[in-house]
Amino acid sequence: MKSSSESAMAIFKAGPGGLQGNPVASMSNPIAELHGADIQGTEPRGIVLEIQRMSTEDGPGLRTTVFLKGCPLNCSWCHNPESISPKPQLVWNGAGCIGCGICVDTCSRGALAANPRGIAIDREKCNGCGECARECPSLSMVLLGEQWRASDLVNELAKDDAYFLQSKGGVTLSGGEATLQHHFTHGVLKGLKERGIHTGLDTCGMCSFDRLEKLLPCTDLLLFDIKEIDALRHENFTGSSNKRILENLKQLPGLLAATNTDLWIRTPIIPGVTDREETLGAIGAFIVNNLEGKVSRWELCAFNNLGKEKYTRLGMEWAHGTALLMERKKMEALYQGALKSGLGDDIVFWSGSVRT
Ligand code: SF4
Ligand code: SF4
Repeated sequence: MKSSSESAMAIFKAGPGGLQGNPVASMSNPIAELHGADIQGTEPRGIVLEIQRMSTEDGPGLRTTVFLKGCPLNCSWCHNPESISPKPQLVWNGAGCIGCGICVDTCSRGALAANPRGIAIDREKCNGCGECARECPSLSMVLLGEQWRASDLVNELAKDDAYFLQSKGGVTLSGGEATLQHHFTHGVLKGLKERGIHTGLDTCGMCSFDRLEKLLPCTDLLLFDIKEIDALRHENFTGSSNKRILENLKQLPGLLAATNTDLWIRTPIIPGVTDREETLGAIGAFIVNNLEGKVSRWELCAFNNLGKEKYTRLGMEWAHGTALLMERKKMEALYQGALKSGLGDDIVFWSGSVRT
């Protein structure tokens, strides 16, 4: 499960912690060099969508969650659509726009046009260079996604060391899918571990097992999504088969033991998709048969309907745009059903906003 605050727009513009915190972001055209690729080398770099401080959902204690760009899945319910593409993406925020037209004049590719409803973005022409966003006087044109060097990001995150220590919290790398930019993710996790900061890695599991083998030695807590066991249903709702995901999970116990990594499983509860006893029964049975004794938490995460505005800003339709929050009664019934797997109430939890 991914979560991302609605305040993301403001954060992107200045860069987390301000541009002073990110020397790469203050370069003349940093994003154009990378375009979402994970750069290996002595100094790995990656594209960060958002840095969310004071998070309480992605591991123990007070945490900072770092959302990376790019995801191999395309879940119909994703409430973080700006994290799916690995490339930086431009959005126009009409509320603050003063109609000066500077952005239109700035774009040498002719990707922007003023019309009676505001500024239209031609996404075929836009290459994500960010020039228009840098020139916009009201911060209404925003480029989602900023390049960071791993060491700069570690320095930025470590500024909250005292909070992490006091609350027994830390940093969780999420997405998108953090294993997609595995060189960068490894660099950040390693740097944090070297500073004694607790590390979490949130994954959908759609990656080679080699990547997990590389990342887990630097990971204290692995948060692994299981959305659906039935392969066809998984493919229908996420665009991909779950074969690799389930194979990775089956191989995990030995790796978890060798690296002393804790495991949380998370299941999104989506109205009309995964809010079924059969789905949770199959996931519960999979955990008991393959991971029992290795999972310290199985969390049922209630659908979050806050993504609608984000889809609109990106010019995308959302299949779940009119879906309501889960009913409390139904979440509690699903939770009781999940307990029938044999996993105890010290392991199974549910979370998220619900309606009465
Ligand atoms: S990001 Fe670059 S290419 Fe895209 S609209 Fe702005 S100036 Fe043009
Ligand atoms: S530069 Fe900014 S304020 Fe001016 S028209 Fe473009 S988006 Fe609006």
